Amino acid sequence: MTRTLPTTARALAALTFALVTALAIAPAAAPAPTLGAQAPSTLGLQKDARIAEAFADVSPARLRALDSTLVAFGTRHTMSDTLSPTRGIGAARRWIHAQLAQYAADCGGCLRVEYDTGSAVITRSRERPTQHLVNVVAWLPGRDTSRVVVIGGHYDSCICSIDNMDATSDAPGADDDGSGTVAVMELARVVSRRFPRGFDATVAFVLYTGEELGLLGSTQFAERLQREKKTVTAAFTDDIVGNVVADDGRVDSTSVRVFAVDSLAVGGGELARYVWATGALYQPAFEVLPVLRLDRLGRGGDHAPFVRQGIPGLRFTERLENYKRQHLPTDALADVDFNYIAKVTRLNLATVVSLAAAPPRPEATAYQRDRASGGQAFTIRWSAVPGAASYELLVRRTTDPTYRRIVAAGNRTEFLLDEQLDDVWVGVRAVGADGHRSLTTVVGAPGGARLAPAARP
Ligand SMILES: [Zn+2]
Repeated sequence: MTRTLPTTARALAALTFALVTALAIAPAAAPAPTLGAQAPSTLGLQKDARIAEAFADVSPARLRALDSTLVAFGTRHTMSDTLSPTRGIGAARRWIHAQLAQYAADCGGCLRVEYDTGSAVITRSRERPTQHLVNVVAWLPGRDTSRVVVIGGHYDSCICSIDNMDATSDAPGADDDGSGTVAVMELARVVSRRFPRGFDATVAFVLYTGEELGLLGSTQFAERLQREKKTVTAAFTDDIVGNVVADDGRVDSTSVRVFAVDSLAVGGGELARYVWATGALYQPAFEVLPVLRLDRLGRGGDHAPFVRQGIPGLRFTERLENYKRQHLPTDALADVDFNYIAKVTRLNLATVVSLAAAPPRPEATAYQRDRASGGQAFTIRWSAVPGAASYELLVRRTTDPTYRRIVAAGNRTEFLLDEQLDDVWVGVRAVGADGHRSLTTVVGAPGGARLAPAARP
């Protein structure tokens, strides 16, 4: 946006932004460092009034009440007590299941709530015990039940920084990952209430176990979806989304990081750009900061098992983490900011609903150098998408962080594009009858699916 403003207007806009930012942040705290703003692009996505209206339902008070109950189970260590009605991971998951079942009842049975069970060897323990694993899932069936958008958070907790096998001491995990757990639960409540008839794709709201012992619950769920031959459009995880104050006093309640691998063939970067654009469209005051790597250095999350299968996966994580509390008995409710979690939940809502309401992206692409233009244009082709009303081509330089040109390509599956394809990345996406856009499939991405032999040299 600022690119088009004259210098004085730009300076004024920067000053206004600085003032607004300064007012929004507690005066004693230093602001978070910034890498320099890239004007956010909404990438031609169109606002759905139903999404904007549903934002009002996301309640910080409810998020707080939910997280407070989670913390009250004492520990949610994956190997903790499962029989007590008040303490341990068994009590926690029965309560989560009951909450989701209540949301299902409230929406006329629109959600299907279940325990997703299995077992795995705990390789991080010297004794290598076999552990029963229970995820809790609420399904919102779509028109297409074979296509799924997954959003999860892990409800297990630990004090791994002291002892990762301590299953009895208090491990509150209010932020890690009570914050993500309650975001996903609140999302299930609001989406089921507002959209009881579901979308084109099915949505799975998942509360994972075993994350702290090696992504065990998400691995189990990802393998199950693969076994059941589901097509996963995207897999999101909310993990550590409730802290706004770093240990050195820096504060940031106005931005969130999204981590995704920028593999052109898989589409993780395309997913990050989609979330970035969706945030800019629906919640412009809450900055989405895309980080194009799988996760923070040396860390892992529940999107990873999906990414390993070649599925676009993405992790939402607070901008500033507090490393003096993570995986410790000090990860307490008092340090969690529920207004901040509400902003992340609204971003989740806009992203998940938009993607689930949109058609799938084209599966395969092809390109051919155009002779009539002397090789300066390209014919782009793509596989037809069921439910697509039309298609669009998005163009960016290979060094651009996001797309800069959007071309309406009509309702056929072929288009002569006046771009030198050698020099740019072109994404193709499907547009649904109601205006929702799919993810983009990058034309000619290394490792991407091809419709036909590549262009002649
Ligand atoms: Zn976590």
